[in-house]
Amino acid sequence: MTRTVRAVIALTGCATAAAVAFATPSRDVDRLVAALLGPTPLEDDLRALTDEIGGRPTGSPANARAVEWGLQRFRAAGVEASVEPFTMPALWLERSASARVGGDVAFEARVAAMPFSAATGPDGTTAPLLDGGAGSEEDFARLGRAAGGAFVLVETEELVDLAGLFREYAEATRIERRAVAAGAAGVVLTSSRPRNLLYRHNSTLAPALQRPMMVMEREAAQRAARLLRAGRKLTLTARLDLERGGPYEARNVVAQIRGTDAPEEVVLVGAHLDSWDLGTGALDNGCNAALVIDLARQISALGLRPRRTVRFVLWNGEEQGMYGSWGYVQRHAAELDRHVLAAAVDIGSGRINGFFTGGRPEIVPVVARALAPVAGLGPFAEVDAPIVGPTTSTSCSRAWPTSWPTRSPPTTARTTTRARTPSTRSTCASSGSTPPSPPPSSGPSPTRT
Ligand SMILES: [Zn+2]
Repeated sequence: MTRTVRAVIALTGCATAAAVAFATPSRDVDRLVAALLGPTPLEDDLRALTDEIGGRPTGSPANARAVEWGLQRFRAAGVEASVEPFTMPALWLERSASARVGGDVAFEARVAAMPFSAATGPDGTTAPLLDGGAGSEEDFARLGRAAGGAFVLVETEELVDLAGLFREYAEATRIERRAVAAGAAGVVLTSSRPRNLLYRHNSTLAPALQRPMMVMEREAAQRAARLLRAGRKLTLTARLDLERGGPYEARNVVAQIRGTDAPEEVVLVGAHLDSWDLGTGALDNGCNAALVIDLARQISALGLRPRRTVRFVLWNGEEQGMYGSWGYVQRHAAELDRHVLAAAVDIGSGRINGFFTGGRPEIVPVVARALAPVAGLGPFAEVDAPIVGPTTSTSCSRAWPTSWPTRSPPTTARTTTRARTPSTRSTCASSGSTPPSPPPSSGPSPTRT
């Protein structure tokens, strides 16, 4: 991972360097890139975040420790840093989740609750398990009234690329709506990751979701589907033990190096700090949080003096619905017009191929110019699509030009961020994205990675 991570840092650093316009541009950019490609404490930072803190859903004690980790790392690098609070709409944490298929054939099936799923009673909820096909309109029409009060098992395609990930997010929201309309007792999505891997991403209704919604390990879900299609009658007993609560305060970490000539103008580089807790959040998004810190560290260590203020933000509440970045936008509303460029770094550690520019063609030449000093690490191609996405970008792109990197290979999609294996919590997850979720009213739009 070292080479790819360093390449990412170099690219991000370069883009930043070009955007902030150092006093002696080419020399400073070269120095910064050389420093970023050399030995740095980045991997030690990431090890501490993932091994010692681990999965860090917003609202958890681990998340609070991660905030302290970020603060400490920035300050140790000689970069001024503070926390900025914002309000999360509701506390949701999974304590445990289990399920057992019963009826004609009985077996245990590993499950993970979808964020903001309703809990079951302490002894679980038992209901018929029905074959919901792909969860389409036609599938629910076929089930008809039988879906009422039943767990609907929905099959999914195995995930192989980033496009599939976003398709999955979008389709999950439609399935959820159909299941609610049908009066289903709950939804059981087949894990799109192979074998026994689990993950979570948001549902559409989020805090308003009134029924259990879960992901079941692929092998068990496919076994259940085959049995149902062979005419066997099955039930599912699911037990979701959740910690839930009302609105609460969470914190972003905001650091900055003040500009010299135009300190009121801001170039923002951010990555989300929070993760789900099925893994340790290494790829989604620990490596990029460490990257942002290292970028600040190297600029500081070299004594570079950016003309504009460079602001480094570790967002929180991203997985639940980009609440941290939206909180930033609200808090800094008065200075948004002076934000020159924002880059959100997410979706794993693969080599950067270019940047998503959010359907803002005027940004494309800016990003191309910023990447010119590292053309040798290319080729790069910007994707100017209004992708709903990562992290911050959706919140921020309502306010200023935002870009975020495309990656190869798409570690996001292939691996398993927020995943866990049967016997151990996985160390690395991929930076998958997260799905549409319920933004605050008039707040950010859905989907993040
Ligand atoms: Zn992410």
